[in-house]
Amino acid sequence: MSFLESVLEQYEIVADKIKLDDGIRERLRCPKRALIVSVPIEMDNGTVKVFKGYRVQHDIAMGPTKGGIRYHPNVNLEEVTALAMLMSLKCALMQLPYGGAKGGICCNPKEMSQKEIERLTRRFTTEIIWAIGPEEDIPAPDLNTNMQTMAWMMDTYSMQKGHTILGVVTGKPLVLGGSLGREDATGRGVFYMVEESAKVKGTKLKGLTVAIQGFGNVGSVAARLLFEKGCKVIAVSGSKGGIYNKGGINIKDLIQHIQENKEIADFHSVDTITNEELLALDCDVLIPAAIEGQINKHNVNDIKAKIIVEGANGPITPEADMVLYDRDVLLIPDILANSGGVVISYFEWVQDLQFYFWNEREIQQRLKEMMVNIFNSILSLSGEKKIDLRTASWMLGVSRISEAHKARGLYP
Ligand code: GLU
Repeated sequence: MSFLESVLEQYEIVADKIKLDDGIRERLRCPKRALIVSVPIEMDNGTVKVFKGYRVQHDIAMGPTKGGIRYHPNVNLEEVTALAMLMSLKCALMQLPYGGAKGGICCNPKEMSQKEIERLTRRFTTEIIWAIGPEEDIPAPDLNTNMQTMAWMMDTYSMQKGHTILGVVTGKPLVLGGSLGREDATGRGVFYMVEESAKVKGTKLKGLTVAIQGFGNVGSVAARLLFEKGCKVIAVSGSKGGIYNKGGINIKDLIQHIQENKEIADFHSVDTITNEELLALDCDVLIPAAIEGQINKHNVNDIKAKIIVEGANGPITPEADMVLYDRDVLLIPDILANSGGVVISYFEWVQDLQFYFWNEREIQQRLKEMMVNIFNSILSLSGEKKIDLRTASWMLGVSRISEAHKARGLYP
């Protein structure tokens, strides 16, 4: 089953459960708009290469669309469509005035120079310029994109419009209207969810053993915060594999090691392990923070963690979900667990529109409050209806979008 098929399957189950109106059900199954663009750029060696770019806007009932832009060799229309739908649910669950979107370019940024990536970003922005804007669709970072990518997007958009428009993208550098706390937001949100999960399981955070798949913007921040609170992070991995130390890895040292342009695998006093082995480790908390489909029917029976917090979007397939639920694993689903990014993106956008900026304490407090409140709502819904937390989150999300559609009616 493809990622999109599994997202749609989950959607049908939830639509049945909440007895979603047939017309609305049909409308939400497909994105409102899907854009495919050709992105030609000159490579450093003088040749011209054409990349394929996408932007999918899933639903606009509650406001402009919102979601990241990823650069990865696996990016395609189906993947981006599935991710756009997940963004709609995430925004609705977190009560943000947005619909979902996602975009990306099929490319391998690890084999490209900074200059090539800049040209790619600027040309892509120009190709989708009529579809984005602070009141239309607001991109943000995702896999292999970052603050610099957003600065180029904002600059390209602003140059074309003839004046500076801060709110067209979020996840920008501070000096360009970025928000304090945005870079760490997703990882920090994941950390809050581990904290809450530990409370539910009646254990202390200190001493919990944690394995993290993916050591990018999400995984590394969650690892650092958990390490600072006394958790034993026993394994982390990147796309080429990972490292393991039963006694715990010093995450501060590891981050410094990576900042010095060194590979995770070359870190001192650890064993190397594969991504597959990491998932199967005997640990209290597992954080899949890489890409979709990592825990599936083939490896779900090897999973030993009692708490799983989804840092990535869609890392667990529906078949695996059911097995984990039956085994009483506390699984915090992506649309809640990694919502910290889009929540602070929302704060950034609000600050940009008002030209008034908040302090970091205020931002972190608001993020924590929102995530913990919603965590508790889905926890009680799941207990009340005897359903897993993912289904509970989807039910809240889809119901809210449906309510907006009902209130607006069908045009004309
Ligand atoms: N790419 C992030 C996500 O999947 C953030 C999106 C945003 O900030 O708009 O949630």
